Amino acid sequence: MSTTLITVTQARELVLAAVRPLGSERVELDAALGRVLAQDISAAGDVPAFASSAMDGYAVMAGDTGRTLTIVGESRAGSPSPLRLQDGEAIRISTGAAVPDGATAVIPQENIASSGEAAIATEAAVVAGENIRAPGEDMRAQTIVLTAGTQLGAVELGAVAAAGAGSVTAARMPRVTVLCTGDELRAPGEPLGPGEIHNSNAPMLTGLATHAGAVTAPAQRLPDDHDATEAGIAAALERSDVVIISGGVSVGPHDHVKPALAALGVDEVFWSVALQPGKPTWFGARDGGALVFGLPGNPVSTVVTFSLFVAPALAALLGTTAAGPPEPEAVLGTDVLRNPRREQAVRVRLQRSNSATVAFPTGDQGSHILTSLLGADALAMIPPGEGTLATGTSVALRALAR
Ligand code: AMP
Ligand code: MG
Repeated sequence: MSTTLITVTQARELVLAAVRPLGSERVELDAALGRVLAQDISAAGDVPAFASSAMDGYAVMAGDTGRTLTIVGESRAGSPSPLRLQDGEAIRISTGAAVPDGATAVIPQENIASSGEAAIATEAAVVAGENIRAPGEDMRAQTIVLTAGTQLGAVELGAVAAAGAGSVTAARMPRVTVLCTGDELRAPGEPLGPGEIHNSNAPMLTGLATHAGAVTAPAQRLPDDHDATEAGIAAALERSDVVIISGGVSVGPHDHVKPALAALGVDEVFWSVALQPGKPTWFGARDGGALVFGLPGNPVSTVVTFSLFVAPALAALLGTTAAGPPEPEAVLGTDVLRNPRREQAVRVRLQRSNSATVAFPTGDQGSHILTSLLGADALAMIPPGEGTLATGTSVALRALAR
């Protein structure tokens, strides 16, 4: 039997076409780390809002060297001097303090020839504007500082605060449920009986979804049983925007996921992609409801298909795009055997040489070799074809979700 499989690119397009961005909600700044903006952020006013000193020193009128100036007051950060500076006067000033009316420059402490309690002697000429930060130098009032779709890291939170906002409108976080199917699965740390394996996909998929901006509950295990599979998926559909199922999606006698999804009214969008690893990938959606991904159970296939299909979907639900690979392309550091019919996603470590980024496969690429993901920087996409792709050939990179 030979059917034409859809390409990775086609599958990604089908996934993105099915996504309807989630709504938004107001989030206090101290809870907004990692959230995605659903609004542009504009500066409420000029930042800095007032002319301020860049140095500890003395606010003065610009003028020649060799002056003796009388100290008449002090302007501290948060406590501006009420005085208007007159010719022949200096006002002691701290970094960030408001420049008093009448002053046009600040002489740094270290540039004062001598200073007493009551007067200072200037050493060098000072020109107007020296060591003064003008209002709006950082942000101009009403100008956009961050655009909708930006993910808020620590630095962005600082910019929002400086712009004058204490809360933001952020995209609602997708609610993701991870279901791991397989009678052979035991929870991490449990002793294994004959033929059993540890459920490594559970922490991986939960972690990947969390890093992609989702709210996740602990992953659930489903036995290879029709009724339990259907009941588990039904419950997940009720409380989730996205359901990610690992394993049980193939066509073996103990694979119950596809019939269960059909019984629950989740419409198939695609089944099987021309991809290695990751061919038996299923994607569908319930009318106006949750998106469902059926990912192959082998851990590497799970992570590869999450990276290529689920991560872009979660980003689109949040109104943004998933992080790209470190470089768009790289040259192969070794020959790679091609797959005649399927595009390969090879886990690679990237090394920068003078002229190019070079991609080296991370050892054995079997879909069960979880350690091939450790230390990998990206996926190198090897187009289908005969023979080998030679060392030095340029290949596209895709982001490996982490
Ligand atoms: P399946 O897709 O259910 O046919 O599983 C394919 C392979 O992946 C089998 O060797 C499973 O034992 C393995 N596998 C399935 N689920 C998991 C999981 N959650 N963690 C680790 N390996 C798994
Ligand atoms: Mg299975």
